Amino acid sequence: MKKLNFTKEDYIRYSLIVFVCVVYLLIQIFNNQISMLLFKSSRIENEITQSDFEIDFIDVGQGDSILIRLPDDKLILVDTGPEKSSKKLISYLKKRMNKFDINKISYLILTHPDSDHVGGSLGVLKNIKVDKILRPKILINSETSKYGNLGYGYTSSENYVETIKYASKKFDMEFFDTNTLIKSKEYKIDFLTPNKDVYFSNNNNDLNDINTNEYSPIIMIEYGGRKILLTGDATDKTEKELLSLYEKEMLDVDILKVSHHGSKSSTSEEFLKVVKPEYAIISVGKNSYGHPAYELLKRLDESNVKDTLSTKKYKTIKIGIDDNLEILISLESEIERIDLPLVFTICLISIAILCKKQINSKKNI
Ligand SMILES: [Zn+2]
Repeated sequence: MKKLNFTKEDYIRYSLIVFVCVVYLLIQIFNNQISMLLFKSSRIENEITQSDFEIDFIDVGQGDSILIRLPDDKLILVDTGPEKSSKKLISYLKKRMNKFDINKISYLILTHPDSDHVGGSLGVLKNIKVDKILRPKILINSETSKYGNLGYGYTSSENYVETIKYASKKFDMEFFDTNTLIKSKEYKIDFLTPNKDVYFSNNNNDLNDINTNEYSPIIMIEYGGRKILLTGDATDKTEKELLSLYEKEMLDVDILKVSHHGSKSSTSEEFLKVVKPEYAIISVGKNSYGHPAYELLKRLDESNVKDTLSTKKYKTIKIGIDDNLEILISLESEIERIDLPLVFTICLISIAILCKKQINSKKNI
C-alpha cells in the first residue's frame, strides 16, 4: 500500500478545510440566533399554522386596518386604511377569507372619520359581504333629520361622509358604546372607551368642532389568557380616561397596537407602565408627520416591551396564539439578515488565495 506523504502545508490546508466545513455548518444551523445577536432583535419567525385565533395588522401604508379571525370562524375588521390602498386591502381580505373559508365579515368597526382609517371602507363594502357596521358617535350633516339632537359630534370628512351615506341605505349600522361586542367560551371583545357622547376640540361646545381622534375606541381582545389592546388614534386624554375607568390588573396586556401610528402625543409613559405590553405594533407607512416619533420609540424601549414591530418595516404582521397560548408572529417582510455563509465563503476564498501566495513565495526563496 502506498504511504501517503503529507507535507506540513498539506496538514494546514486539510485542517483549514475541515475547520471551515465545521464553522460553515454551525453558521447554517445557528444563522437566526447569530443574526438576532448582531441586530439585537428578538423577532420570532414561526409561521402561523396551528392557531384558531389570528390578528393581522395589514400593511395599508400610512393608516390602520386590522383583521381579527375568531375561533368560531367570525371575522372582524377594524378600519380600512386610506383610499389609495383600497384595492390592495380588498385583494388581501379576499385571499384571507378564502384561506379561512369564511365568506363574510361579521363586524366592520370604523374607529373615527380620518381618511387613513375609513378611506378604504366604501371599496370594502362594495366588494365584501359585511354583516354589521359599528361607527363612532359622529354624524354627517345630512343625518340631522334622522337623529335630531342626540348631542353627538358632526363631521364633513369626505371618506366618512361617503361611507355613511352608502352604508345607511344598505347595511345594518350602529354607534359603538362601552360594552362587550362579542364573547364566547374562548374569547371576549370589549369596547373600553369612549365613555362620553362628545369630545370637543376646544371649550366652545360646538358639535362641529370635535376632536375626532378621541372618539377612537380602545378595544380589548381576550383569547385564552392572552390580551390584545387596540387603540385607533386615541390621544393621551383617552388613555387617562381609560386608566381612570378600569383596574390596573385588567389593563395589563400582551400586545398593544400603538396609538396614532406612533405619534409622540399618545402612548404615554404612565399608560405604558400600566398596560405593560410584551409586543408593540405600530401601523405606519411613509408619512410627513414624523411617525413613529423618536420620543415614542424611546418610551417603548425604556418600558418592558420585548419587541416593537412596525408595518412600515415588516409589512403585514400576522399574530396567532396557539393551543399552548404561545404568541406566534409571522412577518411579510424579513429583516435584513446577514448572509453569513456568503460572507464566510468570501473570507475563506481570500484566506486560501493569501495562503497559496505565501506558500508559492516560500517555494521561490
Ligand atoms: Zn390615523
